[in-house]
Amino acid sequence: MAEIKDIPANPPQRQADDRYDPHRIEEKWHARWQAEPKLFAADPADSTRKKYYVLEMLPYPSGVLHMGHVRNYAIGDALARYMWMQGYNVLHPMGWDSFGLPAENAAIKNKVPPRQWTLQNIAHMKQQMNRMGFSYDWSREVTTCLPEYYRWNQWFFLKLYEKGLAYRKNSKVNWCPECATVLANEQVVGGNCWRHEDTPVVQRELEQWFVRTTAYAEELLQGLDKLEGWPEKVKTMQRNWIGRSEGALVDFKIDGPIGRAGDKVTVFTTRIDTIYGATSIQLAPEHPLVADLIGNDPSLHAKVEEMLAEQNKAKERGEVESMDKHGVFLERYAINAFNQEKLPIWVANYILMDYGTGAIMSVPAHDERDYEFAQKYGLDIRVVILPRRIGQPPAEGEAEKPVLPYTPKDSLLINSGEFNELSNEEGIQKMTAFAEQHGFGKATVTYRLKDWGISRQRYWGTPIPMVYCEKDGVVPVPEDQLPVVLPDNVDITLQGGSPLGRVLEFVNTTCPKCGGAARRETDTMDTFVDSSWYFYRYTSPQSSGKPFETANIDYWFPIDQYIGGVEHAILHLIYSRFWTKFMRDLGLVHNDEPATRLFTQGMVIKDGAKMSKNKGNVVSPDDMVARFGADSTRCYALFAAPPDRDLDWQEAGVEGVHRFLSRVYRFVVRNASAANGSQGKNGTGSLTAEQLSPKARQIQRKLHQTIKRVTDDFQGRWHFNTCVAAIMEFVNQLYGAEEEIAAGKFPPQFLADVQRKLVLLLEPFAPYLASELWEMLGEKGDLLRQPWPRYDASLAKEDEIEYPVQINGKLRSRITVPADSPEELVRERALAEEKVKVAVEGKQIVKVIVVPGKLVNIVVK
Ligand SMILES: [Zn+2]
Ligand SMILES: [Zn+2]
Repeated sequence: MAEIKDIPANPPQRQADDRYDPHRIEEKWHARWQAEPKLFAADPADSTRKKYYVLEMLPYPSGVLHMGHVRNYAIGDALARYMWMQGYNVLHPMGWDSFGLPAENAAIKNKVPPRQWTLQNIAHMKQQMNRMGFSYDWSREVTTCLPEYYRWNQWFFLKLYEKGLAYRKNSKVNWCPECATVLANEQVVGGNCWRHEDTPVVQRELEQWFVRTTAYAEELLQGLDKLEGWPEKVKTMQRNWIGRSEGALVDFKIDGPIGRAGDKVTVFTTRIDTIYGATSIQLAPEHPLVADLIGNDPSLHAKVEEMLAEQNKAKERGEVESMDKHGVFLERYAINAFNQEKLPIWVANYILMDYGTGAIMSVPAHDERDYEFAQKYGLDIRVVILPRRIGQPPAEGEAEKPVLPYTPKDSLLINSGEFNELSNEEGIQKMTAFAEQHGFGKATVTYRLKDWGISRQRYWGTPIPMVYCEKDGVVPVPEDQLPVVLPDNVDITLQGGSPLGRVLEFVNTTCPKCGGAARRETDTMDTFVDSSWYFYRYTSPQSSGKPFETANIDYWFPIDQYIGGVEHAILHLIYSRFWTKFMRDLGLVHNDEPATRLFTQGMVIKDGAKMSKNKGNVVSPDDMVARFGADSTRCYALFAAPPDRDLDWQEAGVEGVHRFLSRVYRFVVRNASAANGSQGKNGTGSLTAEQLSPKARQIQRKLHQTIKRVTDDFQGRWHFNTCVAAIMEFVNQLYGAEEEIAAGKFPPQFLADVQRKLVLLLEPFAPYLASELWEMLGEKGDLLRQPWPRYDASLAKEDEIEYPVQINGKLRSRITVPADSPEELVRERALAEEKVKVAVEGKQIVKVIVVPGKLVNIVVK
């Protein structure tokens, strides 16, 4: 390496054209990167390098990339590039969640077959992603609507079926009588069919396929405690969704004639200790007993139907909690086995069939909802617990009625027969045991989590690999006959029935068991099946005999960082955790959870609302790229807000980032020649601080502070907005030194090193510009594979620091001392300060407090 003195201090040449032209630069590098796909490819799983798997949620190929995508991918891409530069073997793949309803809707609207529409969209979006400069390993691309992928959905389905984790049961679906077909929830608009705006949608019972997610409910819940790298809010949402509650099932015998649905109502309660306070039983409108109990009363029948319709509507809108509560008395009674009391049976609009048993005992004195309901209908309200400290005699006046509803558990039972005077916890244990002994109840744990209905009566999805034989019933398609290929020639613009049901060459088949005539299942799978395991396939995209190679999973999993929207906190992120546990139990993977860390980025909003076509506030990434370039667009997406917060899109902000990148470009254009040929790769470390002018030393210090700042952010809190701001500040300082630089006062080796490090820092944020400048600096080799710059803590340290000096907490003066001064020296200098001397004159100094690096406070009296 050359000594400083050997290099002539050439004043940098001012270049004729120092105008930043992102299009020229980006198109040049785009072409190079396209020609060299290996650049972003991960090494195989037998690599001895440490791995890093960074993953953004795969998009639905709607046809256009929107700003929400760009933000999500810019975060992942910055991280991927940073980890490459840290020397990791980085897996950064991308794919397409490409089955689903929009392709069918588009087919109906534009008469383009779903497959063609989808593949066109994929091609276009891939082009957009590449133009943004995202560093995806396309050799691992996964497209879920292709048979080489979905055949494994079918294979997994067979495994689920084998293990008793897939089963059929009756379930309600939305049905349009006009279309004579099932509608997805999204196709129900205000209770009517989307294609027939005046036709109300009705509920129909259909036999459908379910996956037994509840078999893993407890493990899905417990596992959350170990996911330290997941946001608390996501874990809370999952806990609530799984909704574990301990309680008891208690039977209430029906008084009077009984029907087909049995002679008792079974309720689930978490508060059996309050059962003596039950004054009614309430059923969900869908409860099977309801039909028995209303008998032939047409007016009751109509009221219940109306209530059910209302409940379904509220469910669709997620408004069940806020529904105006009402109910109807069925003129029937059920008997409380604890005290033989007859309780009126009601049907209530807010009781859901899919929670607990769809029936509750109503205890108005000790439950908010029950209290409200009882008040409305004048039902009895009986107090059975009192606020009393356990083991203490009642204080004066304590036997009076508490403020109702009174719900705490630190109380005593009253009006409860032989259970009086027990604490709530004792009451729960003893009363549950009593019910169990007498055969009318038992302790139980329930979950709000339900089994996953995966049947869709739609065309564009994975065919469920089952056939129906008159002789053998439901028969699975043998593994060696997979995939069951989704036929192409289906006219889905026709109405009536399931689209696949109309394709006779698909439906009619032979039974794998007896060889006789059989019918294929015409339901397809929920697209959440596709996204439950796609990220495993990225490790073995060519695998043809199995879904993936376990050895590859062992190397790459769990995912180190998963990044996506918080809207996926429950469905996708619960299904994929379930799938992982199921695959682990099959012996296919050895990890319990799919991802160690999860990050949920905020939304992109504009003019106070989420960008949407309806609101007309969409900013197109293509448009931004055309005007400012990809680097400015993605840099702005990272700079404008902390990644976990919503980003309010401001065009002036993009312009600002563009100006900043222009300044970087101009600086390097003017000063690169000083760098060329100066082999100062070991950096500023080879120059001692004494060899630099004060200004150069200032630059050196700021540079190392900036490297530390950006590095810390990648390692921890991900405040990319402040680290981009730190790079901007650094560039401002460089401009502040321009005169001295132009005068040749910066050693060329030093100037070269400063520019190299600046470019390395820019790589994760503005990779096109960074590559161009890297080349301009005379460097060879891919920037992505260069080591991330290290900072030198001693060079980053300020030479001097300023202490505010307070007297009795009031700022009186400031002193400047060498940065590493001992406390004693700081104290001395503070007391020697002129203004301080005057202020303390004639007073007694009680104490001098030095907070190192922060302040001095002198206490006087
Ligand atoms: Zn319709
Ligand atoms: Zn058969």
